[in-house]
Amino acid sequence: MSEESRKLHSSVLIIGAPGSGKGTQGKVLGTIPRFFHCACGDVFRSLDTRTDLGQQFVEFSSKGELVPDQLTIDLWKAQIDNWIETYFFKPDIDMLILDGIPRNVHQAEILEDYLEVHRVIHLTCPDREELARRMRKRALKDNRYDDASDEVIAHRIETYDEETRPLIEHYEGRVSEIDATQQPVEVLGDVIAEIVKLDVYKEMAKVLV
Ligand code: AMP
Repeated sequence: MSEESRKLHSSVLIIGAPGSGKGTQGKVLGTIPRFFHCACGDVFRSLDTRTDLGQQFVEFSSKGELVPDQLTIDLWKAQIDNWIETYFFKPDIDMLILDGIPRNVHQAEILEDYLEVHRVIHLTCPDREELARRMRKRALKDNRYDDASDEVIAHRIETYDEETRPLIEHYEGRVSEIDATQQPVEVLGDVIAEIVKLDVYKEMAKVLV
């Protein structure tokens, strides 16, 4: 392996419309040893809203829009570096499970400097009404103000279709389609089945720590 590629983080991306269950699946995977979950939305939500960056997040997310790319990548990179420095994320042995980033092709291109994407898990849910129902439920349960109004929900789905969905074509050949309308435990079973098939996973599994 070259010096350059050694620095790339082995990763699996979870892509899907808002409400498709990315966070639910990512969170569970992140509890398994040697998997590290990073949800970009959670990184944003952890910001102090009194800061300039926190305010920008509120401004964009409350409209159902994406935060500008460079700002997003800079914040994500700072958080990843912080997790590495504090030994939460161990890039030499952990598989990075990314949910919510990249959110468009431009972000994917920037991330090529940092990531080796081994697989893209596409959680599919063609029923837009079901996605909206899940978001309304989440708004109540998790205090997600960006999921609170029907107008913002509709705009979040539009933003996904216009900006994020093209990633499926961008990563063609590395994408596994998984039916997100199944029970969460069944979706998880399918996601894990895809990951354990990967050569990089088999190599990882040989390393004793
Ligand atoms: P999520 O929790 O992934 O649904 O993200 C909530 C909100 O955070 C989104 O609607 C965006 O405003 C912002 N956000 C999260 N991830 C990204 C990203 N990769 N690029 C731009 N904005 C993002």
